[in-house]
Amino acid sequence: MSETPLYPHIINGERREPLSGDYADVINPATGQVVGRAAMGNAADVDTAVSAARAAFDNREWRHMPPAQRSKVLYQCAQLVMANAQELIELEIGCSGATLTRASNMDIPAVADLWMNLAEAVKTYPFVEAQSPRPLPEQWHSQVWKEPVGVCGLITAWNFPLLLFGFKVGPALAAGNTIVLKPSELTPTSSIRLAEILQEALPPGVLNVVNGDGPSVGETMTLHPDIDKISFTGSTRIGKQIQANCATTLKRCTLELGGKGPGIVMSDANLDMVAQGALWGVYMNAGQACESGTRLLVHEDVYDSLLEKLAAKSAKVIVGNPADPTTGVGPMSTETHFHKVMGYIESGVAEGARVVCGGNQAQVPGCEGGFYVEPTVLADVSNDMQVAREEIFGPVLSVIKFSDVDEAIALANDSDYGLSAGVWTDDLVQAQQIARELRAGSIWINDWHMLRTDAPFGGYKASGYGREMGRHSIDAYVETKAVSMSFERAPERKAMHRIVHTQ
Ligand code: NAD
Repeated sequence: MSETPLYPHIINGERREPLSGDYADVINPATGQVVGRAAMGNAADVDTAVSAARAAFDNREWRHMPPAQRSKVLYQCAQLVMANAQELIELEIGCSGATLTRASNMDIPAVADLWMNLAEAVKTYPFVEAQSPRPLPEQWHSQVWKEPVGVCGLITAWNFPLLLFGFKVGPALAAGNTIVLKPSELTPTSSIRLAEILQEALPPGVLNVVNGDGPSVGETMTLHPDIDKISFTGSTRIGKQIQANCATTLKRCTLELGGKGPGIVMSDANLDMVAQGALWGVYMNAGQACESGTRLLVHEDVYDSLLEKLAAKSAKVIVGNPADPTTGVGPMSTETHFHKVMGYIESGVAEGARVVCGGNQAQVPGCEGGFYVEPTVLADVSNDMQVAREEIFGPVLSVIKFSDVDEAIALANDSDYGLSAGVWTDDLVQAQQIARELRAGSIWINDWHMLRTDAPFGGYKASGYGREMGRHSIDAYVETKAVSMSFERAPERKAMHRIVHTQ
């Protein structure tokens, strides 16, 4: 029998045992089987990793590396992802329940593509910008410099471990920072292995990974006096705690949090396209995606006919083992999460929603240890129900009726969240007008999940702040310094000095 693989921390360029000696099982959510054992860190491990990251920052090799050379390193990182794609895909499926089609067609190519985009962006990023000189009353030149923030603590969620690694590590490296990353303790194997692979391209100490739970490792990072910035992806509840903790040392902080994406279906939309697209919007990763389209706001003229199409298509979605290339919807991340999702369906029904399809636990032969939910469409939902207000994080679509466009916009914006929103219509002028009114960081017209690695992604309102992907993401990892220099030596000609000196 083969031994269970161990995933220690990665600190200062090497595998490091946890100081406590503790490891925890990593469970495949599709089957309930153990796929590895990962180091469980504590405050002392965080200290060791932060010291390594600080030393790598202070020794200047990395942060003073010319951008053109850092660009080559980013390209090499992208190549390492592609060269090790097969292993990373298997790890991602094994720890997170990502489907094979998603991990191989979306996550891995997107990480490589994003890092190649950043490799290009870093060559022209305005790390030094000259301001027009002031000629009189004395010559005075100023420049604006963008410098790395320092040691960045990156904390990621369990739903897309490698993508989130890519979204944060890429721009942090592009700006010249050093890193301590904490993956979710539920899904650490792919992130630890990718960090290990990338050591080939990076100086020691630039990228460190400490695995562990939120209170022992994550919270220690947010309070750590020698971490300069936290970038967090996770729930809005923990995001609020993180922002409060960062305030104690005035750390820089960016937050990528939850969502409750509304899609507005106008009466002129192509309903076959909407049915297919809205289900893609809500069922991708079994609904465990922050930007999912979970509220479908449908014009009353097409409400019933669209429901019929949604139910027919939904019933054909294949729920199965994520390692099978025909599977469309995989498992819930844990048994606890499964019960939470089922609880939301029950609460919807109790509040008056109607189950149009799904609504039950799904059975997947050969995967009896996993927890699966049938793709579910709820009709007759009103926007004040729990299923319309809270993030369910499962394959559950809430369908809400509206009668005019202003009502639809008001319903869409009547949410704590503001991550994604969309419009389905053939009237592209109206689509633009609606897009202008929607309070969300990403707006999609006639599709969903249209994320580009060269365009910014992030939230309004309780969905957080800061943007990831694209060259905008580098902005979140730099400090701005104004450097001004006088070209006048004669004291009597230094005009401003007269405010203090009298002659
Ligand atoms: P979570 O908030 O429970 O955990 C996220 C990370 O924070 C984990 O690594 C966890 O260990 C850590 N953590 C927990 N408590 C902490 C604390 N007190 N201090 C510091 N770190 C702590 O979220 P989750 O369940 O892993 O992920 C699902 C959530 O993530 C959903 O709300 C989803 O919408 C959100 N998400 C957002 C985006 C985005 O880009 N906006 C992307 C993916 C997921």
